[in-house]
Amino acid sequence: MTAGAGGADDGSPPRRRLGQLAALEVEVLKSATPAKAKALRSLEIASILDLVTTYPRRYLDRTRKLDVADTAIGDEVTILAKVTASSSRPTRGGKRIVDVTVVDESGQLDLVFFNQPWRVNQLRSGTLGLFFGKINSYRGTRQMANPVVDVVAHDGATVESDKMLRIVPVYPMSSKVRLTSYDLSDLISEALRRAGELADPLPETIRQRLDLLPRTEAFRQIHRPESEAEVATARSRLAFDELLRLQLALVIRRAVVRRESRGMQHQPIDLQASTAQSLVGQLLSKLSFPLTNAQQRVVGEISGDLAGPLPMHRLLQGDVGSGKTIVALLAMLAVVDSGHQGAMMVPTEVLAEQHVASLAHFCQGLIVERRDDLLHERPFSIALLTGKTAAKERRRVLEGLAAGTIDLVVGTHALLTEAVEFRSLGLAVIDEQHRFGVEQRAALKEKSGGTHDPDLLVMTATPIPRTAAMVLFGDLDVSVIDALPAGRLPITTTWASTELLAEAAWAKVRTEVAAGRQAYVVCPLVEGSSKVEAVAVTNEVERLAHGPLQGLRLGLLHGQMKSELRREVMEQFRSGDLDVLVATTVIEVGVDVPNATVMVIEDAARFGIAQLHQLRGRVGRGKHPSMCFLLGEASNLDATKRLAAVEASTDGFYLAEVDLEVRGGGTILGARQNGMSDLRLASLTRDKDLLVTARSVAEELVEEYPFLAGLPELADELRSLLDEDEADFLFKS
Ligand code: ADP
Ligand code: MG
Repeated sequence: MTAGAGGADDGSPPRRRLGQLAALEVEVLKSATPAKAKALRSLEIASILDLVTTYPRRYLDRTRKLDVADTAIGDEVTILAKVTASSSRPTRGGKRIVDVTVVDESGQLDLVFFNQPWRVNQLRSGTLGLFFGKINSYRGTRQMANPVVDVVAHDGATVESDKMLRIVPVYPMSSKVRLTSYDLSDLISEALRRAGELADPLPETIRQRLDLLPRTEAFRQIHRPESEAEVATARSRLAFDELLRLQLALVIRRAVVRRESRGMQHQPIDLQASTAQSLVGQLLSKLSFPLTNAQQRVVGEISGDLAGPLPMHRLLQGDVGSGKTIVALLAMLAVVDSGHQGAMMVPTEVLAEQHVASLAHFCQGLIVERRDDLLHERPFSIALLTGKTAAKERRRVLEGLAAGTIDLVVGTHALLTEAVEFRSLGLAVIDEQHRFGVEQRAALKEKSGGTHDPDLLVMTATPIPRTAAMVLFGDLDVSVIDALPAGRLPITTTWASTELLAEAAWAKVRTEVAAGRQAYVVCPLVEGSSKVEAVAVTNEVERLAHGPLQGLRLGLLHGQMKSELRREVMEQFRSGDLDVLVATTVIEVGVDVPNATVMVIEDAARFGIAQLHQLRGRVGRGKHPSMCFLLGEASNLDATKRLAAVEASTDGFYLAEVDLEVRGGGTILGARQNGMSDLRLASLTRDKDLLVTARSVAEELVEEYPFLAGLPELADELRSLLDEDEADFLFKS
């Protein structure tokens, strides 16, 4: 494999690196007048690199452009036209309407803007723009109301101006800035022309194998394409580069962590263990079910990490109800068997309480043997630590952790506070929904007490798509529990969008309760504080008690209740003293009552797919068929898609993909906390294949050139394009 050529050997001028473009300010361009430079900076385009990576948001193919005269009422069209008049008038309600007239060679069209008074300045006479919208008829003339506007040029340019390309790039412009798409196109053209040949840090063999354009061409083609095909190939190359940088950073990060870590070698998890000496053996012999094959395989993967010299950095994925908890618990017990402690960190207090309850249930009666302890044998000890833990108990827990008399602690961020110290933390399990960043993971590791790094297992409550996992958790190894325990009965889900269907849902609750089963009612999310939510759910219990669920024994559960009271209510429900539990999303995780067979989720459109799926996972845990009702209408198309998907499928991995499609990658990446540079072109939904390719190329490159030694251009590019802290972390040699 040959490294990307520097270009100097054959006497040709050195080719520019992106890092060099990042160091050049936009003011170096001749076309950047002071006004334009200022406008650029207000768009956060400060360097030549910022400029050339400001990509068109769409393109207009002028050979396919529609003439005003050819549009029909009801058409959704884009037209390229010039403003001939614009004016503003008040409405009776005190708002403003802007009327704009535009023309092209074929005719004239009226535009009208409501509540956008600034349009009168933006669309002055002479402005050339692209207008996208629906043609309607107003008092007999054709009109477009509130079209999407892209200003192409200000005064002077004509529709048929020579400088117009066949394919016109349309740049994302803020309407507040007096800079047109043409201006930007000119600036970028000059930048690319003067930058000349760009260095291509991707090894030539790989570039050819993947059939990617050379970088210089890719930049030219994305900004001045001659065909749509050129846009596509250019985009692939540039999106690939973004993804490759990201994946390289993650793969190198993993290598750095490995190189710098001093792992602990724990005992493997022995699934055949039947000895009473080990906690793992004790738990296995009292488990009422066999582990599924999928669980066994994953336990094997984790066990290999625990026993190996490097600290584990693993993501555990599994659908709701697939049995992740027991897998995590086995790992923690193996670590305690090896003489260390376990910690489980979760995002909320309620979750911590729920987890501690279910873990304590599994761990009842377990005995720890310590040869070096005075007592020799003692009961396995598990504790809870949250921000709400009372001072006295808190002191007891802190002492127990420091002394090693507490084997397992479950807690929130409170575990990261300074006072917490472990005698020897062997394994940290983080149960998260993307809420813990790299920093918190690192902080937890630092609590470990000894000179060694604890192992780390990250779990997600519901599956996340593979591509998102690659980006969010790309520095972790991944284990997947891909099957549910045998004998689970399917959950039938019905979206009850009308009053009548809701009636049927409540009727079903009554018949199930009459048959000895139990039900959950989940109340809508309420905007505002959890106090407001508590009031809402309390009112809802009243309403149900006097309405559709009259005569049933209803319980109430919300996050504002004291934890003792909450525990009491849960216990009543578990023991069958309550028929229906009316709750907020506090029942999301950890509640496990096999006799509950119905779940009614009110105003379901307010919840996301993952949350609905997680909630639904509270039923279908016993031997009776279960059902879930999603109440309420969908307020928009996305909500419709979400509810329809949850109604149609109970496969969390499938739903995760739908969720990504509906929400787009941005929301997921928005929660990303690993300090990577942004993806400008690449998208998690559109570029799945590219991402997978980028991942394997990153692995290949780092394998062959550890820390990219031997690929100086690529290393340089990462160093200059990544977040500074991230770059320091990766390349502090
Ligand atoms: P999740 O992966 O959603 O966290 P849990 O760990 O809460 O799932 O497990 C769901 C339920 O299935 C729990 O009641 C758990 O005890 C039970 N369970 C776990 N593994 C098995 C198994 N192999 N066979 C039967 N039930 C199991
Ligand atoms: Mg769980």
